[in-house]
Amino acid sequence: MVDSPEGFTGEGFFATSFDKVVGLARKNSIWPLPFATSCCGIEFMALMGSHYDLSRFGSERVGFSPRQCDLLMVMGTIAKKMGPIVKQVYLQMAEPRWVLAMGACASSGGIFDTYSVLQGIDQVVPVDVYVPGCPPRPEAVIDGFMKIQELVHNESLRRRNSDKYKLLLESYGIQ
Ligand code: SF4
Repeated sequence: MVDSPEGFTGEGFFATSFDKVVGLARKNSIWPLPFATSCCGIEFMALMGSHYDLSRFGSERVGFSPRQCDLLMVMGTIAKKMGPIVKQVYLQMAEPRWVLAMGACASSGGIFDTYSVLQGIDQVVPVDVYVPGCPPRPEAVIDGFMKIQELVHNESLRRRNSDKYKLLLESYGIQ
């Protein structure tokens, strides 16, 4: 059962603000897009299985069309050649969109401090939550996912139009 948003209650009525209702609905219906390139992807499969069951959070609908998803989950080693592809997927997602970097490789390049591996996906797209670990256990990913839910729940409806957000995107060369 989902808690109702903050507001005023009385006999026979409940009043709250529009952004709290939108935040509540968004946070409990996040559609993830898994961008998995290596071992962390296997851990993601465990996350989606019946034992950990991400569908308990309203996110059983994993999508592979960026246009239908609002959470990009990047898991695995991202080669520098793959960087532009991650960015392209991100660009194809509609706002509002969030990004979770799962595991050491996606967050920082992990143990692969080499000429060919991107040292963190935040070099190509803005990241909202980093989940450490090699690989992180599904519990850690659930914790990261709940941090995303917190962000989604509390995000102002105007954030995406703010100068700060536009500047953030511009710093990544995104208009
Ligand atoms: S963080 Fe570890 S488990 Fe995850 S993709 Fe990198 S090497 Fe594999």
